[in-house]
Amino acid sequence: MKTVGLLGGMSWESTVDYYKLINEGVKARLGGLHSAQCLLYSVEFAEVEACQSSGNWDRAAEILSQAAVRLEGAGADFLLICTNTMHKVADQVAASISIPLIHIAQVTAEALEAQQIQTVGLLGTRYTMEQAFYKEKLEERGIRVLVPEAPGRELVNRVIFQELCLGQIRPESKQAFLREMDALAARGAQGVILGCTEIGMLVAQQDTAIPLFDTTRLHAQRAVELVLAD
Ligand code: GLU
Repeated sequence: MKTVGLLGGMSWESTVDYYKLINEGVKARLGGLHSAQCLLYSVEFAEVEACQSSGNWDRAAEILSQAAVRLEGAGADFLLICTNTMHKVADQVAASISIPLIHIAQVTAEALEAQQIQTVGLLGTRYTMEQAFYKEKLEERGIRVLVPEAPGRELVNRVIFQELCLGQIRPESKQAFLREMDALAARGAQGVILGCTEIGMLVAQQDTAIPLFDTTRLHAQRAVELVLAD
């Protein structure tokens, strides 16, 4: 079995889901007491968030690269950064290690292609929705990406940082997210990417008829395949 390196803590609420999903996936495939060989480096999120909001992405890249080097040194065979937003510095992190970095947007793009989705809605932090680093990974494969209008983006970003990353699940926020998804579908989105690893704590496929692409689940599933690959 290969060893997955999880670069998590962004926030730790969603890293818990990664850990659970990867272990459940290995158990589902191998049965019995089987579980995933796994290393976790969980960062101090307040420090990373301060880099995000001050625009100090170089410092954020440094923090994540140092953690990635430690995971590689400890024996990880491949690396997952357990957040969409911090893929803003994925290239710098990848350059600091010699094991593969499994890019969350690439895994998501492959899932969209498998379902023949040509236009997709994207919910995530304001960095993920508004900057190019994430959307371009989809657009370079010919997938059109729609994000909410400005008030919707503000709402989604606020709920992520002021509720979900603090472990707060509010029914009114769930309804607001479902309304944003409906609006994206009305504009032509054939599916919606839950492009923040905490959104799956709030909404799930059974809440809507719109096909959802939960990045935490897709990323964790890929880790299971790689852990079990020959
Ligand atoms: N986990 C989130 C994401 O997937 C947001 C937290 C962060 O800013 O890293 O983007």
